[in-house]
Amino acid sequence: MMNLDTTVELLRDFLRIDTTNPPGNEEKGALFLQEFLRREGLSSDIYVAVPGRANILSRIKGSLNGKPIILLGHIDVVPAKRDEWMCDPFAAEVKDGFIYGRGAIDMKAQVICQLAAFVDYARQGVIPKRDIIFLATCDEEVGGDHGVEFMLDAVPELKDASFVLSEGGSMFEENGSVHAQVSVTEKRLSQFILKAAGRGGHGSMPHGDNANEKIVAAARRILAYKWPLKAMPVTSAYFDGVLKDQYAENIKFPGLKDALRTREWRNCLERNEMYNSVLRNTVTLTILKGGEKVNVIPSESCAYFDSRLLPSQTHDKFFEKIKKLAGNDVAIERIGEKIPSPGPSQYNTVYFQGIKEAMQALKGNIPVLPFVTTGATDMRYFRDLGIPSYGFFPVTLTKEQHMRMHGKDERISLANIKEGLDGCRAIVNFLASDRIP
Ligand SMILES: [Zn+2]
Repeated sequence: MMNLDTTVELLRDFLRIDTTNPPGNEEKGALFLQEFLRREGLSSDIYVAVPGRANILSRIKGSLNGKPIILLGHIDVVPAKRDEWMCDPFAAEVKDGFIYGRGAIDMKAQVICQLAAFVDYARQGVIPKRDIIFLATCDEEVGGDHGVEFMLDAVPELKDASFVLSEGGSMFEENGSVHAQVSVTEKRLSQFILKAAGRGGHGSMPHGDNANEKIVAAARRILAYKWPLKAMPVTSAYFDGVLKDQYAENIKFPGLKDALRTREWRNCLERNEMYNSVLRNTVTLTILKGGEKVNVIPSESCAYFDSRLLPSQTHDKFFEKIKKLAGNDVAIERIGEKIPSPGPSQYNTVYFQGIKEAMQALKGNIPVLPFVTTGATDMRYFRDLGIPSYGFFPVTLTKEQHMRMHGKDERISLANIKEGLDGCRAIVNFLASDRIP
């Protein structure tokens, strides 16, 4: 079996391969994984989408044909600014029990733990019921065209998968208690640009047709609007599990639907960044561009918004409201909508039950709950095909650790690697078992 030290060293070597996307260069990462699999006596195939951008697939053959189980991960990472980090984001330094590196949480550690569990299963020599496929792809962080989308064409059998396990959920530690968030759906990406045109001129002579002022006024109205807090079956199940027996200003949690009708509970839910973002549409102003000189009135200006919609919200209804708020002085350009936004995966399934039992066997009687990922992942491609797809990496993260994802000083603890290894093994054992339909 892969021991902790070997797994940690494997992860550190993987983190040292710079797969910042753009441009990606994931082929180096895929070759690294292939070399490891080769040393373990397992064959694999590399699928190059465009020069330098590659995906890798390895398989443990099952006793039945078709409907494989996929352990999915991505090789690419988001950019890291060296000067903002306290150490080199691609040196995989270990300090105070943590491995630092871009991709530590998102998601090279999960790729390595899934790989270790996959290799360990293969070493046992037991034949799983369904094929178990280890798949690591490129291009997740920028759209997925060369990654999952490319692979679904290159290996059509993937479209017939019975189940996909990937990122988006983990165990979460808050106020001393731990629960597992198994992501079964994600919010819809709905980004847009506000554009304004006006009349240029000298800053000393305002004329009321200033592109920047139009953008500021429209952005203020958009940002001031409070999107309604809404309960969905997934979030009701989640909050009913997490907040059971909790109090907000002396009022016991009455269930999500009723909580949203109670002022005290609404305030409490809104104040928590994570709760707030899974209960409503969010609209975030991320880029402002306008003007070049302090004494010149700009004739053009624009603002970029990153909005994430509840899975039940349609793009068209959302933009009806945005248009009203923005007013007539600005134009709206919708971006990022080509990405499919399918409905949730079911969670009254043997897969959910199996993961729950595996985690409770390792962690005691913790709540294992369905969850909504606020970011977008490659699982949307599989959910779009109706394949049950869960985001879950069995490690316990604090909110602080979670927030470092895509931020500075991203890190994962050595204790997490141990947990991830044990958890992935337990989950792979279940996924290979006769309980899978
Ligand atoms: Zn990711």
